[in-house]
Amino acid sequence: MAGARITRVAVRQPKLRYRLPATFARRLRGQMVRAVERRAKYLLVALGSGDRLLMHLGMSGSCRVARAGRPEAHDHVVLGMSTGASVFFNDPRRFGFMRLLTAGEHATHTSLARLGPEPLAPAFDAAALGAALARRRTPLKIALSDQRVVGGLGNIYVVEALHRAGLSPVRRAGTLVSANGGPRPAVHDLVQAIKGVLKEAIRRQSRTGGDNPFLVYDREGERCPRRGCRGTIRRIVQGGRSTYYCPACQR
Ligand SMILES: [Zn+2]
Repeated sequence: MAGARITRVAVRQPKLRYRLPATFARRLRGQMVRAVERRAKYLLVALGSGDRLLMHLGMSGSCRVARAGRPEAHDHVVLGMSTGASVFFNDPRRFGFMRLLTAGEHATHTSLARLGPEPLAPAFDAAALGAALARRRTPLKIALSDQRVVGGLGNIYVVEALHRAGLSPVRRAGTLVSANGGPRPAVHDLVQAIKGVLKEAIRRQSRTGGDNPFLVYDREGERCPRRGCRGTIRRIVQGGRSTYYCPACQR
């Protein structure tokens, strides 16, 4: 998309998580794409007009780039590019969304402005995470799922990182920080675990597909995969989302 012009906009289903406004196609058509970026779970397309197209893939969404071809089921928005390629926004469950933000709206968009650091950025280190967790009384799992603590970490990766770091999802987040405000050693382990599970997932290039590639996610009742641990993976619900963990080795 970057460097190309949007020549054609087809809205096949305007009812995404938020309804697309009637002006949506008009504001996109003819626009040059200056850059395509990602921030946390948002995709941001900067346009020549100064507007930004904000996209979120929700639970089940994807973008498919194809040179030609007819739209498939659940292709809700199709952007035809001057290169001849088309971008198909597909989302069976329609929890995803698109929004057009003016430059001013982009600068003040609360969910963008409040995002925590990117987990793979050098700025996301034990000092930063420790400061974000200090004095928090919420369970660690809930704190890590808060996009203001770290941006873009999804439920599965929080679960996997906590197991890798040997930390319980139900312990109070603030207990990882010492009385003088410094991060305890476990915060270093947690930061490395978060970066590790994300890098592996990017290498795999897929969230699920076929076999379950995760060590504890969706493995309730199975033996804990940690060497020497005889625990059994348990499932609980926190903040409306499934947590899987080993009560024996995650403290
Ligand atoms: Zn275990």
